[in-house]
Amino acid sequence: MDKIATAQGTKAILNKYSFIFQKKFGQNFLIDPHVLSKIIHSSAITKDDCVLEIGPGIGSVTEALIEHAGKVISVEIDKHLIPILEEQFKEAPNFKLVHNDILKVDLKKLIEEESPGKRIKVVANLPYYITTPIIMALLENELSIESITVMVQKEVADRLAAGPGSKQYGAITVAVNYYAQPYLVANVPRNCFMPRPNVDSAVLKLTLNKEPVVDVGSTKQLFQIIRAAFSQRRKTLLNTLMANGELNLSKEALKQLLDESGIGASTRGETLSLQDFARLSDYLDKHRV
Ligand code: SAM
Repeated sequence: MDKIATAQGTKAILNKYSFIFQKKFGQNFLIDPHVLSKIIHSSAITKDDCVLEIGPGIGSVTEALIEHAGKVISVEIDKHLIPILEEQFKEAPNFKLVHNDILKVDLKKLIEEESPGKRIKVVANLPYYITTPIIMALLENELSIESITVMVQKEVADRLAAGPGSKQYGAITVAVNYYAQPYLVANVPRNCFMPRPNVDSAVLKLTLNKEPVVDVGSTKQLFQIIRAAFSQRRKTLLNTLMANGELNLSKEALKQLLDESGIGASTRGETLSLQDFARLSDYLDKHRV
């Protein structure tokens, strides 16, 4: 029988179950086995690993995950896909299917129950309409995760893996850098999916930091400064931070602190790294009166 992640394999399952794509769930199924190998290879899954898959669809990626991982937990929102997946993988003892919205699942509990004492790996061809909320939920909630290997829109991958000073670099890039090291694995053209989306995609791997990469007094203030710095890209740091108003400093005092910290009042936020933002946040903490 054809593998699911091929045009023939996918068509056979769609016909067998008379499946109708739900646009609202961002359903674009992977039909390219080479791309699938890249996902599996870059996620470095072994039989020791427990994998959380978000949105298995008809099982294109799931099939390979079941083959390579010790345990696979797939969370799917669409009720029409549940009986298909159940039948497809009924003989796989290492497969568990959860019918739910990933943003409503208690992931901390699920991970503790399914993979006690060992960090899990997340692998997913993400639904595009909620890519960023899913990635941020995985990063921000102190979950026991080792890495996240995901198919996302190319534009999103470029933004998350961008470096300071580039056009794609933004508040979300710096936020992701706080939690993980991003790596762009591969670009994926739109013809690798059924139905074909309107945009190209990319596989992105985020390796979560074991220890924080910056040591900062107040993460709340750090994120406030980052958000403010990118709120108006063309403005200087002094002006964006003043416009934001949350620092409670006069313009003169802030200008002096920015200059003294070595960051510079006329710098633009888009040129600063996470480390620069952390240095600035701590400097403001220590020196403001
Ligand atoms: N993994 C399959 C593949 O690669 O062919 C399907 C990928 S498709 C881009 C996204 C999948 O996520 C769909 O199966 C969709 O129904 C599911 N999905 C959408 N929103 C979801 C949510 N909030 N929680 C869980 N699954 C979701």
